[in-house]
Amino acid sequence: MYHLTGVTKCYRDGGDVVRALDGIGLYVEDGGTLVLQGPSGGGKSTLLRILAGLERPTRGSVELDGTDLATVTESRLARIRAESIGLLGPGPDAGLAPGLTARQNVAGALVPLRLHPADRWELAGDALDEVGLPGHKDFLPGELDDQARRRTALARALVKRPTALLADRPTAGLSAAARDEFTGLLARLWSERRLTCVIATDDDALARRAPRRVTLARGTLTAGGSADPQGVRGAGPAPWCASRGAR
Ligand code: ADP
Ligand code: MG
Repeated sequence: MYHLTGVTKCYRDGGDVVRALDGIGLYVEDGGTLVLQGPSGGGKSTLLRILAGLERPTRGSVELDGTDLATVTESRLARIRAESIGLLGPGPDAGLAPGLTARQNVAGALVPLRLHPADRWELAGDALDEVGLPGHKDFLPGELDDQARRRTALARALVKRPTALLADRPTAGLSAAARDEFTGLLARLWSERRLTCVIATDDDALARRAPRRVTLARGTLTAGGSADPQGVRGAGPAPWCASRGAR
């Protein structure tokens, strides 16, 4: 469960301050799936990085299952990322290491969990089976097609059995047929595993699979489409980001 209050993120850009997020309030219940839509530059990737614990907000709180990612120690945050958060990054390489096989890429996500190497290997194989790649475990990312690379990245994100799955434009650049297949897999896994899921996408077919959709523009959330407005809390007055406070 994510509960965000007053999340503001400022970046320094030369002498200017860019307010990428401006007082975001948001609630995503356990097992809930939320799609973020909105124009390029609206703040979607920034919000996902903050939900993933990769960046801290300038102001506000980002509770994941009761722990505030904005203020926990760096070591605790690293632990939460390793155990509880699966992240599917943007781009056709899906963030896979090009010199490692699919199975080695997936097993790598379990290294911080201090499992026995044989267990990591077995779990990685199971995860690749589950995303429909039983025959591709020993392939390098460059030997896989685009959809298979994304399936591998999904296996890597989920092999740790996280509570949350975050995805940034997971179907961008796929052909229509591959997009439909990958979307079906993603939707099956988020519902079967009761993942707390936040997905940024401009793909309407994917967005329609999610029970809630919101629009993020200029760092501010508004309910969109058939989104349940409950949980899109009032953003409140825009906090002032002093450039000295921005990080
Ligand atoms: P989206 O993913 O919706 O396209 P982003 O989150 O990437 O939007 O960007 C939101 C705003 O924040 C944009 O104005 C972008 O230029 C700015 N921004 C994002 N990351 C940085 C950064 N590291 N430094 C400076 N500005 C940034
Ligand atoms: Mg983006």
